[in-house]
Amino acid sequence: MKTIRICHLYGNLLNTYGDNGNLLMIQYYAKKKGYQVDTKIVSLDDDFNAADYDIVFFGGGQDFEQKIIAKNSQRLKNELQSYIENNGVMLAICGGYQLLGEYYVTAKGEKINALGILPLYTERQINSRFIGDIEIYDEINNQTYVGFENHNGVTHLAGDLQPLGKVIKGNGNNGQDQTEGLHYKNVFCSYFHGPLLVRNKWLAEHLIDLTIKQLN
Ligand code: GLN
Repeated sequence: MKTIRICHLYGNLLNTYGDNGNLLMIQYYAKKKGYQVDTKIVSLDDDFNAADYDIVFFGGGQDFEQKIIAKNSQRLKNELQSYIENNGVMLAICGGYQLLGEYYVTAKGEKINALGILPLYTERQINSRFIGDIEIYDEINNQTYVGFENHNGVTHLAGDLQPLGKVIKGNGNNGQDQTEGLHYKNVFCSYFHGPLLVRNKWLAEHLIDLTIKQLN
């Protein structure tokens, strides 16, 4: 039986708000489509080789863990970048999403260099968070996604980066420009918890379909 190799990036440190449910959904749909799964956590002491994985999940976390990972993950930057540029499938939520960008500012105001793989950056809100239900519309796929957001960071997409969807209800990336998340090549980023793939099954299946396409 063919195998889908799943990388759970810093999965022992980034797993807030039930985000691991995304991983369960990835495993569920992979099996449903006739594949077996091999899931590995790549964390502080591990290497990431782009060729070793078919799908990468990068979850959300608190500022404390994010700061450690921002430093530790610099050594993985080149391989992660080549994985993304070679159409590798990735799902990044909240803290993981922020870490793919140039930098992020913690709730306490500390500016942290992130991986700098994608031209986006995250500032902070002072004494405030975006917390609540959110709904967006993904024009490319003609899909509506629902979720729950809980973040201090406000993310801005630069260059010609496209969001995952347009905000119908809630705040999304920054509460200003109606963008939510990011869709770049086969990389999907979002602030949605809930978790994203459990509440939006179409997207879960879509990610697996893209993964299988890359295998062939
Ligand atoms: N600490 C980050 C923020 O509040 C990320 C939160 C998260 O991943 N849930 O913006």
